[in-house]
Amino acid sequence: MLGKGSCLLPRNVAQKTTALLRSRKQTRCLATQTSYDVVVVGGGIVGLSTARELIIRHPTLKFAVVEKENELSVHQSGKNSGVVHSGIYYTPGSLKAKLCVEGLDLAYKYCDEKKIPYKKCGKIIVAVENKELPELNKLYQRGLENGVKDLKVLNSKEIKDVEPYCEGLAAIFSPNTGILDWAEVARNYGADFKKAGGDIYTGFEVSDFTCSPESNRSQVKEAGHSHPVTVHGKNVSPLSCRYVVTCGGLYSDRLAEKSGCPKDPRIVPFRGEYLKLKDEKSFLVKGNIYPVPDPNFPFLGVHFTPRIDGSVWLGPNAVLAFAREGYKLTDVNVKDLIDALGYRGLRKLMFQYFTFGVGEYYRGIVKSEQVKQLQRYVPSLKVEDVERGPAGVRAQAMDSDGTLVDDFVFDGGTGDIGSRVLHVRNAPSPGATSSLSIAKMVAEKVEERFHL
Ligand SMILES: Cc1cc2nc3c(=O)[nH]c(=O)nc-3n(C[C@H](O)[C@H](O)[C@H](O)COP(=O)(O)OP(=O)(O)OC[C@H]3O[C@@H](n4cnc5c(N)ncnc54)[C@H](O)[C@@H]3O)c2cc1C
Repeated sequence: MLGKGSCLLPRNVAQKTTALLRSRKQTRCLATQTSYDVVVVGGGIVGLSTARELIIRHPTLKFAVVEKENELSVHQSGKNSGVVHSGIYYTPGSLKAKLCVEGLDLAYKYCDEKKIPYKKCGKIIVAVENKELPELNKLYQRGLENGVKDLKVLNSKEIKDVEPYCEGLAAIFSPNTGILDWAEVARNYGADFKKAGGDIYTGFEVSDFTCSPESNRSQVKEAGHSHPVTVHGKNVSPLSCRYVVTCGGLYSDRLAEKSGCPKDPRIVPFRGEYLKLKDEKSFLVKGNIYPVPDPNFPFLGVHFTPRIDGSVWLGPNAVLAFAREGYKLTDVNVKDLIDALGYRGLRKLMFQYFTFGVGEYYRGIVKSEQVKQLQRYVPSLKVEDVERGPAGVRAQAMDSDGTLVDDFVFDGGTGDIGSRVLHVRNAPSPGATSSLSIAKMVAEKVEERFHL
């Protein structure tokens, strides 16, 4: 009896035969796979807006979206503040500044067309200490430079006209900032995509990408197939395609790595925990009330956000999550944690902001401490007026030197698979507001890179 791995043929003949059989098997397998021109990975607001834009531009091509969850938009796109940002904060000339300002107009227009409820309740960014006034002024100038419409500076009395329970020295007022449910917007993008002929696979967790090597391509084409990339999923049949766009949010670095692209920038998950104002106290807040942000951090600081359903959320804070999808303090994923703590960039950042980080955990656990921060803006707020609310986890990209990547990042790679993939690697806030303009930019990059 022959043992495992034994063979009666000479070694070189056996190797050639195995390779031939393997490539025939692969060709047969490819020929039976469902194939697409482009597969978009990630059914969040960015993946769905991108897929929608691509199918609108190329109605004769075949597109699919694959999403690992059984529903669309359950991560960042379904767990956020629900604000339509106006574009004040972002560095002039950055993608964030450009795509947010454009995205706001596109978002309101889309909601009008689809009759998705929104409210332009406005927003004030409030300085409560003299030392914050120069930063407030800088933000106002930035807003003007970024082309944010109808901005105004308010004095103490004017703040009260907009927000009767808020106190401050001065504020920037942005009347066009609004609120809506971004998950509903994302689901509408998905419905548009399906209506235009696109396929959406939920419960499809991409585990790998493979590409038939150049030498096999002619054989692949002979079999009537010009879709060399195979998208593999866990416990599902693979799909074949010509090109891939990944919009993986909290997993964007791991998806990039699977396609042979560099792992950096890495994603570091920052949980944002909200408090909720009790219903009988919602009169305290009319629109969005934000602090002057600390320019050293990419997050905006805890704020008051009315929701489109009438509730009011307070927060979110920013604490390192022990799991990429860790919505509770007790959610720990050992792989994610080892991955994060093993990253030099994160260790550097933790060392640099150690006191702030510990303070954020403390304020997250002790409700009265978080309320103290909020009382700086609405002094009549009491601890008994608030209850614990939900949480979201931000996908924040970070370089190996610990620098938080501020702008949106889109890139691809080289080699067989890398040259057929485009990754959305960093799409943090205002990613939802900018979703339609991000989609246009990604579609342009896809057309340019892949000659669609
Ligand atoms: C707490 C918080 C508050 C925010 N507030 C605002 C705000 O008020 N306004 C605003 O404009 N923006 C806000 N943002 C930012 C905004 O939510 C994000 O920019 C946006 O949702 C990003 O969308 P996305 O599609 O890239 O990511 P996601 O919504 O996270 O979608 C990525 C999808 O990819 C899927 N996926 C990952 N890996 C795989 C795989 N291997 N196979 C298949 N599928 C996979 C995931 O399941 C997920 O559904 C906030 C974000 C957070 C977290």
